[in-house]
Amino acid sequence: MASTTAGNLVGRVFMPSELRFAAMPPLALYIHLPWCVRKCPYCDFNSHLAPESKLREVGVPLVSDIQRVDMNPSSAGEQGFAESLPMDLQRRYLNALVADLDQQLPKIWGRKLYSIFIGGGTPSLFAPELIDELLGAVRARLGMPQSGEITMEANPGTFEQARFEGFREAGINRLSIGVQSFSDSHLKALGRVHNSGQAVAAVRSAVALFDEVNIDLMYALPHQNVEQALADVAQAVALNSTHLSLYQLTLEPNTLFAAKPPPLPDDDTLIDIEEAVHKAAKEAGFEQYEISAFAKPGHRCQHNLNYWGFGDYLGLGAGAHAKISYPNRIEREIRHRNPMAYMEEMEGAAQPLEVRTLAVRELPFEFMLNALRLIDGVPESWFVERCGRPLSDLQKPLKQALSKGLIETQPGLFKPTELGFRFLNDLQEMFLAS
Ligand code: SF4
Repeated sequence: MASTTAGNLVGRVFMPSELRFAAMPPLALYIHLPWCVRKCPYCDFNSHLAPESKLREVGVPLVSDIQRVDMNPSSAGEQGFAESLPMDLQRRYLNALVADLDQQLPKIWGRKLYSIFIGGGTPSLFAPELIDELLGAVRARLGMPQSGEITMEANPGTFEQARFEGFREAGINRLSIGVQSFSDSHLKALGRVHNSGQAVAAVRSAVALFDEVNIDLMYALPHQNVEQALADVAQAVALNSTHLSLYQLTLEPNTLFAAKPPPLPDDDTLIDIEEAVHKAAKEAGFEQYEISAFAKPGHRCQHNLNYWGFGDYLGLGAGAHAKISYPNRIEREIRHRNPMAYMEEMEGAAQPLEVRTLAVRELPFEFMLNALRLIDGVPESWFVERCGRPLSDLQKPLKQALSKGLIETQPGLFKPTELGFRFLNDLQEMFLAS
């Protein structure tokens, strides 16, 4: 494994290549817009309080909050959202993103973009005209098919909803809405700034404007039972989105919920909820194609499929990660997590914070970590195409996984068995370099 820091790239010497690529993997672009009007207590994403936000970081909700319904659209406190992220800061960040992109171009000359994903944070805090400029800058530098998927994450507040049309005009063709729940009491327990009425209105508006709409829902929420979780899925289904992402609420280190955990459902209830929401989504015509992803036929998320299939992606923005293949190596990059440090870096040397070349022995685990999440499995040939290595690299762990009944023996395909999906971490770890 080779690791280097910004400014230390010149003069690196690479050994004769141990990788053989017939062609470079598909290339996607991820852009991180890091600010939110408030930090949610469960969130471990690289999100930062918008500098002028009037909403302080939420405290851990009380049990009484979880059982009480006292939000309505007029009390949601959206006044000031527009001012929470001043335009001069938005513009400075946009300039940093473009400087970052310019610096990346020599690494990907001649390659076309397959998809773009603008995530956060809350990207919909950015003005539509800035998103338009951002996508214009990308288009001016990189080719992308007309039909290429361009996703943006948005919160379902009234403030964001008013901007959806502008985002579509800017070129966004897929909206991913962070609803999390349609229950006011659960939204309050999660410290969210929107309420269920706003979420319903936002999804309706998105479905009217975009052909591709994802709803993010979380389950196993504080005090949640099976019926309540099913009610969330039923509401999402009724709103006619094309895609559902169903995530279990987990307590992540360094979050307020980890410091003071809310009362989550016990293990038996959790399993009941998970089985019930998956079944409900499938019965409503959504195909499960990844552990957490469900899509109507023909509406799978192309960007995430590339990511799960070990495709390449550029990563622009604070804390963004990238994975880029070269004829002789595969590199991962990380950028400064702090937006101010990121902008300062991009206004100067415009180098990633860290660049790491993956060792050949790391590739089996790197590949399987995401590929094994795909419900239909992945073609064996993708390992050869995207890692530049022969299938013999996988022989030992595959034999072990087969003997334990964790992976199927279908020719030409890597696919976990039902047992394999249940013990996915164990299965993935078998591919770790010993
Ligand atoms: S809105 Fe999303 S990114 Fe922002 S703090 Fe909440 S969970 Fe994190």
